[in-house]
Amino acid sequence: MAASYRATGAFRKRGVISRLSDVIWPPRSLLSDAFVDRPGVIEPALWNELKFIAEPVCARCGFPLPDDIGAEAVCGACAGRKPAYDSARAALAYDDHARRLILDLKRGGRRDGLPVFARWISAAAGETVARSDFLAPAPMHWTRLAVRSFNQAAWLTQALARAHGKPWKPGALTRIKRRKSQAGLTASERRRNVGGAIKASRRFAGKTIVVVDDVFTTGATLEACARALRKAGAAEVHAVTLARVVRPTDISI
Ligand SMILES: [Zn+2]
Repeated sequence: MAASYRATGAFRKRGVISRLSDVIWPPRSLLSDAFVDRPGVIEPALWNELKFIAEPVCARCGFPLPDDIGAEAVCGACAGRKPAYDSARAALAYDDHARRLILDLKRGGRRDGLPVFARWISAAAGETVARSDFLAPAPMHWTRLAVRSFNQAAWLTQALARAHGKPWKPGALTRIKRRKSQAGLTASERRRNVGGAIKASRRFAGKTIVVVDDVFTTGATLEACARALRKAGAAEVHAVTLARVVRPTDISI
């Protein structure tokens, strides 16, 4: 929690720091080592390779659907088991490019892409964000935050909140149990792994809340966030992510 506020401070100073560093090192593309004219951009050749998720998608989980069968259409998974969130939307399909963007953000602490990521997420879920009461990042356990010193979901939340002039609450959700790595677990194993691990910090009666995370893999983490917020009285909980797994083979991330 304290660390996420520290990260907020670092974010504010970033403008000055990045301008100074650009004098020495010209900015690099978000997706390659190519030099670009300003931070947070991608050269046209790779830009054209980005896979943005477009309609039609499942009304609940945002999974791409093969045919447009109406705005309320849901995928087979959501028809079988209704998720705890009202909707989930992602900007990009998870592929090698999305993976690089997320790893640079998450492991490398690279922040120059945040304004553009916020625009992409807005293109996928701007209306939902606009009518929400506040945004909240998917939480990270304090032991992990202590090691990494930042939560990439909090950075994304802040960038998206700024783009919409909305408040964001970094401490709305807390992770009370450190989870085992989710990599290689099935959807139901992931749900068990995060079940009860996330709590809302207080009552949010009647609120419409958007939870922000970097990637939607099986949705287990966002489900746990939604359950915690509903228990705390939230009227609606929506999830938005930068990327989303659309091929079963990518669930091993
Ligand atoms: Zn679905």
